[in-house]
Amino acid sequence: MFKPKTEEEIALLRENAILVSKTLAEVGKAVAPGVTTKELNRVAETFIRDNGAIPSFLGFEGFPAAICASVNDVVVHGFPSDYVLKEGDIVSADIGTLYKGYNGDSAYTFPVGEVTPETRKLLDVTKASLYKGIEAAVAGARIGDIGYAVQSYAESFGFSVVRELEGHGIGKEMHEDPGVPNYGRRGHGTHLVEGMVLCIEPMINAGSRGVYLDRNGWAVHTSDHKNSAHFELTVVVRHGRAEQLSTFDFIEKDSNIKF
Ligand code: MG
Ligand code: MG
Repeated sequence: MFKPKTEEEIALLRENAILVSKTLAEVGKAVAPGVTTKELNRVAETFIRDNGAIPSFLGFEGFPAAICASVNDVVVHGFPSDYVLKEGDIVSADIGTLYKGYNGDSAYTFPVGEVTPETRKLLDVTKASLYKGIEAAVAGARIGDIGYAVQSYAESFGFSVVRELEGHGIGKEMHEDPGVPNYGRRGHGTHLVEGMVLCIEPMINAGSRGVYLDRNGWAVHTSDHKNSAHFELTVVVRHGRAEQLSTFDFIEKDSNIKF
Protein backbone atom coordinates (compact mmCIF):
# COMPACT_ATOMS: atom_id res chain seq x y z
CA MET A 1 0.00 0.00 0.00
CA PHE A 2 1.23 3.46 -0.88
CA LYS A 3 1.41 6.16 1.78
CA PRO A 4 2.57 9.71 0.87
CA LYS A 5 5.92 10.61 2.39
CA THR A 6 6.12 13.36 5.00
CA GLU A 7 8.51 16.31 4.62
CA GLU A 8 10.78 14.68 7.20
CA GLU A 9 10.85 11.44 5.23
CA ILE A 10 11.50 13.32 1.98
CA ALA A 11 14.49 15.03 3.63
CA LEU A 12 15.93 11.65 4.68
CA LEU A 13 15.34 10.21 1.22
CA ARG A 14 17.09 13.25 -0.25
CA GLU A 15 20.13 12.62 1.96
CA ASN A 16 20.28 9.07 0.64
CA ALA A 17 19.73 10.21 -2.94
CA ILE A 18 22.60 12.70 -2.72
CA LEU A 19 24.90 10.08 -1.22
CA VAL A 20 24.09 7.64 -4.03
CA SER A 21 24.62 10.40 -6.58
CA LYS A 22 28.06 11.16 -5.14
CA THR A 23 28.91 7.46 -5.00
CA LEU A 24 28.05 7.10 -8.69
CA ALA A 25 30.43 9.98 -9.42
CA GLU A 26 33.22 8.24 -7.48
CA VAL A 27 32.61 5.10 -9.50
CA GLY A 28 32.61 7.16 -12.69
CA LYS A 29 36.05 8.54 -11.88
CA ALA A 30 37.33 4.98 -11.55
CA VAL A 31 35.86 3.70 -14.81
CA ALA A 32 38.65 3.16 -17.37
CA PRO A 33 40.08 0.47 -19.62
CA GLY A 34 42.04 -2.01 -17.50
CA VAL A 35 39.89 -1.65 -14.37
CA THR A 36 37.88 -4.61 -13.03
CA THR A 37 34.24 -4.28 -12.06
CA LYS A 38 35.24 -5.62 -8.64
CA GLU A 39 37.37 -2.51 -8.23
CA LEU A 40 34.33 -0.33 -9.00
CA ASN A 41 32.47 -2.21 -6.27
CA ARG A 42 35.31 -1.56 -3.83
CA VAL A 43 35.31 2.17 -4.61
CA ALA A 44 31.55 2.39 -4.07
CA GLU A 45 31.43 0.33 -0.89
CA THR A 46 34.30 2.27 0.67
CA PHE A 47 32.68 5.62 -0.16
CA ILE A 48 29.28 4.58 1.17
CA ARG A 49 30.70 3.25 4.44
CA ASP A 50 33.02 6.26 4.86
CA ASN A 51 29.87 8.37 4.78
CA GLY A 52 28.26 6.38 7.59
CA ALA A 53 25.79 4.51 5.40
CA ILE A 54 25.28 0.88 4.48
CA PRO A 55 25.42 -0.46 0.90
CA SER A 56 21.86 -1.77 0.80
CA PHE A 57 22.34 -4.13 -2.14
CA LEU A 58 24.90 -6.25 -0.26
CA GLY A 59 22.97 -9.27 0.99
CA PHE A 60 19.65 -8.05 -0.45
CA GLU A 61 17.87 -11.31 -1.31
CA GLY A 62 21.34 -12.82 -1.33
CA PHE A 63 22.99 -10.34 -3.75
CA PRO A 64 26.76 -10.73 -3.20
CA ALA A 65 28.05 -7.17 -3.70
CA ALA A 66 27.56 -3.49 -2.88
CA ILE A 67 26.75 -2.50 -6.45
CA CYS A 68 25.39 -4.06 -9.60
CA ALA A 69 27.99 -3.75 -12.36
CA SER A 70 26.40 -4.71 -15.68
CA VAL A 71 28.68 -4.75 -18.72
CA ASN A 72 27.52 -4.44 -22.36
CA ASP A 73 24.72 -6.98 -22.96
CA VAL A 74 23.95 -7.27 -19.24
CA VAL A 75 20.87 -5.16 -18.62
CA VAL A 76 20.94 -5.14 -14.81
CA HIS A 77 22.03 -7.09 -11.71
CA GLY A 78 25.52 -7.98 -12.94
CA PHE A 79 27.91 -9.23 -10.27
CA PRO A 80 31.12 -7.23 -9.87
CA SER A 81 33.87 -9.59 -10.98
CA ASP A 82 37.44 -9.95 -12.22
CA TYR A 83 36.27 -8.89 -15.68
CA VAL A 84 38.65 -6.23 -16.95
CA LEU A 85 36.88 -3.32 -18.66
CA LYS A 86 38.14 -2.59 -22.14
CA GLU A 87 37.92 0.36 -24.50
CA GLY A 88 34.48 0.50 -26.11
CA ASP A 89 32.64 -1.33 -23.31
CA ILE A 90 29.79 0.21 -21.37
CA VAL A 91 29.22 -0.50 -17.69
CA SER A 92 26.04 0.24 -15.78
CA ALA A 93 26.53 0.89 -12.09
CA ASP A 94 23.41 0.56 -9.96
CA ILE A 95 23.91 1.59 -6.35
CA GLY A 96 21.79 1.55 -3.20
CA THR A 97 22.29 3.07 0.23
CA LEU A 98 20.61 2.63 3.58
CA TYR A 99 21.09 5.67 5.80
CA LYS A 100 19.09 6.79 8.83
CA GLY A 101 16.53 4.09 8.11
CA TYR A 102 15.78 5.18 4.53
CA ASN A 103 16.97 4.07 1.10
CA GLY A 104 18.73 5.56 -1.89
CA ASP A 105 18.84 3.92 -5.34
CA SER A 106 20.21 5.30 -8.62
CA ALA A 107 22.07 4.06 -11.67
CA TYR A 108 24.24 5.35 -14.51
CA THR A 109 25.74 3.71 -17.58
CA PHE A 110 29.34 4.78 -18.19
CA PRO A 111 31.23 4.49 -21.46
CA VAL A 112 34.69 2.94 -21.08
CA GLY A 113 37.05 5.11 -23.12
CA GLU A 114 35.82 5.73 -26.65
CA VAL A 115 32.61 3.97 -27.65
CA THR A 116 31.01 3.67 -31.07
CA PRO A 117 28.60 6.40 -32.19
CA GLU A 118 25.76 3.85 -31.99
CA THR A 119 26.61 3.05 -28.37
CA ARG A 120 26.93 6.76 -27.56
CA LYS A 121 23.46 7.23 -28.97
CA LEU A 122 22.06 4.39 -26.84
CA LEU A 123 23.44 6.06 -23.71
CA ASP A 124 22.16 9.52 -24.68
CA VAL A 125 18.70 8.28 -25.64
CA THR A 126 18.31 6.14 -22.53
CA LYS A 127 19.24 9.05 -20.26
CA ALA A 128 16.97 11.42 -22.20
CA SER A 129 14.12 8.90 -21.92
CA LEU A 130 14.56 9.00 -18.14
CA TYR A 131 14.16 12.79 -18.19
CA LYS A 132 11.07 12.40 -20.39
CA GLY A 133 9.67 10.07 -17.74
CA ILE A 134 10.48 12.54 -14.98
CA GLU A 135 8.72 15.35 -16.88
CA ALA A 136 5.62 13.18 -17.02
CA ALA A 137 5.64 12.49 -13.26
CA VAL A 138 3.40 15.37 -12.23
CA ALA A 139 0.59 15.29 -9.66
CA GLY A 140 -2.66 14.28 -11.34
CA ALA A 141 -0.91 12.20 -14.00
CA ARG A 142 -0.75 8.42 -13.85
CA ILE A 143 1.97 5.81 -13.80
CA GLY A 144 1.14 4.94 -17.42
CA ASP A 145 2.03 8.48 -18.46
CA ILE A 146 5.60 7.93 -17.24
CA GLY A 147 5.92 4.64 -19.10
CA TYR A 148 4.42 6.11 -22.23
CA ALA A 149 6.88 9.03 -22.16
CA VAL A 150 9.89 6.73 -21.75
CA GLN A 151 8.76 4.17 -24.31
CA SER A 152 7.62 6.53 -27.06
CA TYR A 153 10.90 8.47 -26.85
CA ALA A 154 13.21 5.43 -26.79
CA GLU A 155 11.34 3.61 -29.53
CA SER A 156 11.39 6.66 -31.80
CA PHE A 157 15.15 6.01 -32.15
CA GLY A 158 14.63 2.34 -32.97
CA PHE A 159 15.66 1.14 -29.51
CA SER A 160 13.52 -1.15 -27.37
CA VAL A 161 12.26 -1.14 -23.79
CA VAL A 162 12.86 -4.00 -21.38
CA ARG A 163 9.52 -4.95 -19.89
CA GLU A 164 10.45 -7.58 -17.34
CA LEU A 165 11.89 -5.02 -14.91
CA GLU A 166 10.56 -1.70 -13.72
CA GLY A 167 11.03 1.28 -11.41
CA HIS A 168 9.40 1.52 -8.00
CA GLY A 169 8.49 3.59 -5.00
CA ILE A 170 11.18 3.95 -2.33
CA GLY A 171 11.23 4.73 1.37
CA LYS A 172 12.06 2.59 4.38
CA GLU A 173 12.04 -0.27 1.90
CA MET A 174 14.13 -0.17 -1.25
CA HIS A 175 11.20 -1.34 -3.35
CA GLU A 176 7.80 0.05 -2.47
CA ASP A 177 4.53 0.57 -4.33
CA PRO A 178 3.81 1.64 -6.97
CA GLY A 179 5.73 -0.21 -9.66
CA VAL A 180 6.88 2.13 -12.46
CA PRO A 181 7.04 0.32 -15.82
CA ASN A 182 9.03 1.87 -18.67
CA TYR A 183 6.21 1.29 -21.10
CA GLY A 184 2.55 2.07 -20.85
CA ARG A 185 -0.54 3.85 -21.96
CA ARG A 186 -1.34 7.46 -21.27
CA GLY A 187 -4.03 7.96 -18.63
CA HIS A 188 -3.68 4.42 -17.23
CA GLY A 189 -2.44 3.10 -13.91
CA THR A 190 -2.05 4.50 -10.42
CA HIS A 191 -2.62 8.23 -9.94
CA LEU A 192 0.45 10.23 -9.02
CA VAL A 193 -0.04 12.22 -5.84
CA GLU A 194 1.92 14.68 -3.73
CA GLY A 195 4.50 13.00 -1.53
CA MET A 196 5.06 10.04 -3.84
CA VAL A 197 8.77 9.19 -4.09
CA LEU A 198 9.63 7.16 -7.18
CA CYS A 199 12.68 5.59 -8.76
CA ILE A 200 12.30 5.92 -12.52
CA GLU A 201 14.77 3.66 -14.30
CA PRO A 202 14.56 2.96 -18.03
CA MET A 203 16.44 -0.11 -19.25
CA ILE A 204 16.80 0.33 -23.01
CA ASN A 205 18.20 -2.19 -25.47
CA ALA A 206 20.05 -1.34 -28.67
CA GLY A 207 18.41 -4.32 -30.37
CA SER A 208 15.28 -6.29 -29.54
CA ARG A 209 13.62 -6.13 -26.15
CA GLY A 210 14.02 -9.81 -25.27
CA VAL A 211 16.03 -10.71 -22.18
CA TYR A 212 16.96 -13.86 -20.28
CA LEU A 213 18.18 -14.64 -16.79
CA ASP A 214 21.77 -15.76 -16.34
CA ARG A 215 22.44 -19.15 -14.78
CA ASN A 216 23.65 -17.31 -11.67
CA GLY A 217 20.01 -16.35 -11.08
CA TRP A 218 20.70 -12.61 -11.10
CA ALA A 219 22.23 -11.06 -14.22
CA VAL A 220 19.71 -10.19 -16.93
CA HIS A 221 21.14 -10.38 -20.48
CA THR A 222 19.75 -9.19 -23.79
CA SER A 223 18.68 -12.18 -25.88
CA ASP A 224 20.46 -10.83 -28.95
CA HIS A 225 23.58 -9.90 -26.91
CA LYS A 226 23.45 -6.32 -28.10
CA ASN A 227 24.16 -3.56 -25.59
CA SER A 228 21.69 -2.33 -22.99
CA ALA A 229 21.75 0.89 -20.97
CA HIS A 230 20.22 1.79 -17.61
CA PHE A 231 19.79 5.17 -15.97
CA GLU A 232 17.90 5.68 -12.70
CA LEU A 233 16.97 8.73 -10.65
CA THR A 234 14.78 9.23 -7.59
CA VAL A 235 12.11 11.93 -7.73
CA VAL A 236 9.40 13.23 -5.42
CA VAL A 237 6.06 14.44 -6.70
CA ARG A 238 5.93 17.76 -4.94
CA HIS A 239 4.25 21.10 -5.62
CA GLY A 240 2.64 19.45 -8.62
CA ARG A 241 5.79 18.40 -10.43
CA ALA A 242 8.57 15.83 -10.17
CA GLU A 243 11.49 17.18 -8.19
CA GLN A 244 14.72 15.23 -8.50
CA LEU A 245 16.19 13.96 -5.26
CA SER A 246 19.17 12.26 -6.88
CA THR A 247 21.17 13.87 -9.67
CA PHE A 248 23.82 13.16 -12.29
CA ASP A 249 25.37 16.60 -11.73
CA PHE A 250 28.18 15.18 -9.60
CA ILE A 251 29.10 12.92 -12.51
CA GLU A 252 28.65 15.34 -15.36
CA LYS A 253 29.35 18.83 -14.04
CA ASP A 254 32.05 18.32 -11.41
CA SER A 255 34.16 16.20 -13.68
CA ASN A 256 36.57 16.81 -16.51
CA ILE A 257 35.51 13.54 -18.00
CA LYS A 258 32.80 13.77 -20.61
CA PHE A 259 30.22 11.11 -20.00
MG1 MG B 1 18.76 0.82 -8.83
MG1 MG C 1 15.66 0.90 -8.53
